[in-house]
Amino acid sequence: MRIQDLPVDAVYDALVTGPEGLSAAEAARRLAEYGINQVERIAPESLPLRFARQFTHLFAVVLWLAAALAFFAETFQPGQGMGTLGIAIILVIAINGSFSFFQEYRSERALESLILLLPLKIKARRGGELVEVPATQLVPGDVVVLEEGNAVPADCRVVRSMGVQVNLASITGESVPVVRDADADPHAELGAARNVLPAGADIAAGEAEAVVFATGMRTMLGAIAHLTQTAGQQASPLQKEVLRLSRIITVLAMGSGVAFFAIGMSGGMDIWHASIFAIGLMVANVPEGLLPTVTLALAMASRRLARKNVLVRKLTGVETLGSATVICTDKTGTLTENRMRARQVFMAGRLMEADAVADAGLAGKLALETAALCQTLDVVDRQLVGDPTEIALVELAGGMPAGEPLDGISFDSTRRRMALLYAGESGAVLHVKGALEALLPLCGRVADSDGVRSIAETDRKALLQAEIDMAEAGMRVLALARREMAPGTAKELWEQDLVLLGLIGLQDPPRPEVPDAVARCRGAGIKVIMVTGDHPRTAEAVARQVGLVTRRHPRIIVGDHLQRMSKTQLQLALDAPEIIFARTRADQKWRIVDALQAKGEVVAVTGDGVNDAPALKQADIGIAMGASGTDVARQAADMVLLDDNFASIVAAIEEGRAVFDNIRKFLTYILTSNIPEMVPYLLFAVFNVPLALTVVQILAIDLGTDMVPALALAVERPRAGVMTRPPRARGERLIDSALLARAYGFLGPLQAAGAMAAFFLVLTGGGWSWGRELPVDSALYLRATTACLATVVVMQMANLFACRSHDLSAFRPSPGTNRLIPAGLIFEGALIAALVYSPLGNTLFATVPLAAADWLRAGLFAALLLLAEEARKLVIRLSPRDAPLPK
Ligand code: ADP
Ligand code: MG
Repeated sequence: MRIQDLPVDAVYDALVTGPEGLSAAEAARRLAEYGINQVERIAPESLPLRFARQFTHLFAVVLWLAAALAFFAETFQPGQGMGTLGIAIILVIAINGSFSFFQEYRSERALESLILLLPLKIKARRGGELVEVPATQLVPGDVVVLEEGNAVPADCRVVRSMGVQVNLASITGESVPVVRDADADPHAELGAARNVLPAGADIAAGEAEAVVFATGMRTMLGAIAHLTQTAGQQASPLQKEVLRLSRIITVLAMGSGVAFFAIGMSGGMDIWHASIFAIGLMVANVPEGLLPTVTLALAMASRRLARKNVLVRKLTGVETLGSATVICTDKTGTLTENRMRARQVFMAGRLMEADAVADAGLAGKLALETAALCQTLDVVDRQLVGDPTEIALVELAGGMPAGEPLDGISFDSTRRRMALLYAGESGAVLHVKGALEALLPLCGRVADSDGVRSIAETDRKALLQAEIDMAEAGMRVLALARREMAPGTAKELWEQDLVLLGLIGLQDPPRPEVPDAVARCRGAGIKVIMVTGDHPRTAEAVARQVGLVTRRHPRIIVGDHLQRMSKTQLQLALDAPEIIFARTRADQKWRIVDALQAKGEVVAVTGDGVNDAPALKQADIGIAMGASGTDVARQAADMVLLDDNFASIVAAIEEGRAVFDNIRKFLTYILTSNIPEMVPYLLFAVFNVPLALTVVQILAIDLGTDMVPALALAVERPRAGVMTRPPRARGERLIDSALLARAYGFLGPLQAAGAMAAFFLVLTGGGWSWGRELPVDSALYLRATTACLATVVVMQMANLFACRSHDLSAFRPSPGTNRLIPAGLIFEGALIAALVYSPLGNTLFATVPLAAADWLRAGLFAALLLLAEEARKLVIRLSPRDAPLPK
């Protein structure tokens, strides 16, 4: 029998389960038999294939070309060592490819392990009790409770529905929610049956109890998984820019190499000279480790963020965060603790402390009854689980009575109220709670201390005033109402002639870290806008408590007003320095984000509900709540706040800014050494100067000594002042003229000067003079090139310190330790020592042991480089800063 054809009782039988759910032991047994509930990820590309790809991308191709050129030269002029060079280059391609592959793999692993931090939990009945289990542990026969915002974890058959509606957008593409219920539906296809909730769908409204009938790869989603899986992570704009940049550099290097080769050959240069020149230019310029290092920098940043309770779902998020200019934040739970407690009540015409409710007589008694009944809390593992507002009300009422509602209208942020119908002694009783403005028009009567009477204008005024009084003290105010009615009354007729019972003011303390985080945003030029469904006075009071509002009259826009504003009006309103959106409906958040973006802002927005998904998707950075948010919001977001805390957003922005800075740091570092690598070849081609640095030695720098220091710069901590400057402009390039000027126009030439000086000083000290013959295997030449290599490496050591900041002294105490910096230095030192002093190093890299004087000289040049940098930085620090141009 097909599962959708059966009546509810038969569904239980068919899956050998019951309304109480499976026993823990049976669930464990089934888990072993049916496997974990997971749609397996099909790897976008096999590992060997991806390994192979490391040897066929553009940089590798250039290096292959260089190797080919070397072998070509060897066949023309054998015995000049060109063949060995070719082999060396191929070796380099192999090492470089493996290194890149390893870094890529490591970044991916880092991200994958982060995803595991956020297990999807589902409420299930096991042995008669409601418990939370990880979605991966569900088995066929499990009875699950799904509610608004849940992603359906497996294929389920509905057995009880409280107005459940499901959004099948991720399966059929149709995004209008459809109603589901428990009745048998004998003629439908499985996917379209009215009583089936397929895995991957979202619960858009209501609640349902359902029995799992297929898990993991046996679900309908699992069956089509291989069709729908998108291939891995997309490259982020930053990665794309780095790729574009390195392509340009590579093409230029290759072009100039080939062009000079042709010119040299036609100008009578012998093939050995011409090819060595071309190869040198190519190898010096190819930015070998660039892309994997950028990816690694992003992955490391996301790992640091995870430690700060921010989970990045897309690598792109990290870098976009750094450029955020506006944060639109929720109030409840993000700025506040979301731990509510009833503090004051207004009942029977009097405002009093919450623990004095009993003094309000009948009104008090009825209000507590409604507070206890009008909620959708669950008891999971004997704890109240659900909306903190409702928990506070139930606690005030002294606990949750037994009994299930007959029917209800669930809470939504547009109606701002909810109603549940219970069986009473004579007929049925409807319990309603919500915002006062939402309830007052529905109330014809009001409860007093000794009876119910019809509501008067003075009552309304007193209620509204009491609400304002409580709101101004920062309380969230809920109104309670009830009505007795005949069972079977149509839903449309429920909410009328209600009896207003009173108001309850709930205190929700601001999170202690938030005022400081808000101040940091101010310092960083980031505007923070509160968007809340709460009362404008409550919103303003909380905003003041956390320092979001300091003026006497902030701009406050309520949802009804926003509704009537055009986009232009909204954009103009957003110019106000301090602005709060209150009584906002979830669908209006999207409009606020859209208007901000039209103003050129980079917008981060927080959200938790189903209705927040469009705003989260629209925003540059959508941030979902990990603790209180829904699955739907999480899936729409770029990042997830595990602790819901506003302060974590600010910490994340700081990291995002640091990533951008760091990439510029290591770019400066590796671009610097390109100049001393290129200059010898230019001098060699133009003035016929003996070659100061061999191709293999260039490779030793680019792929050896520079590697770990560059990584060290990629993982630097955010600098102290990173949150005191305005956000980076939208169009700001990673590599701009300032960076190029510093690397190619300042540091590089200094380093080249030092390296060439070392080369010539060794030569002249050894008795060589201009124009004399200098055999490439003479001891003097070997020592001179070795000195040149050593000088570049020692100067790069100094440069490592110089590059830690573009304007701050290298000698200031560093903010936070970076263990990779000393590691980088040690690595660099050990490697150059091995190259210079080991027999193997001597053979492979054509080096000879150096004298102490050579090292001293190199150290002196390094010191000079650092001094020149200090002077340059001083000038920058002293020169008046340009105001950033609005772009
Ligand atoms: P926010 O999360 O921004 O504080 P909400 O959209 O959750 O705002 O709530 C908006 C208003 O809806 C609240 O001020 C309150 O009056 C009402 N409300 C909130 N939660 C409930 C609930 N569970 N039942 C009834 N009314 C509620
Ligand atoms: Mg809320």
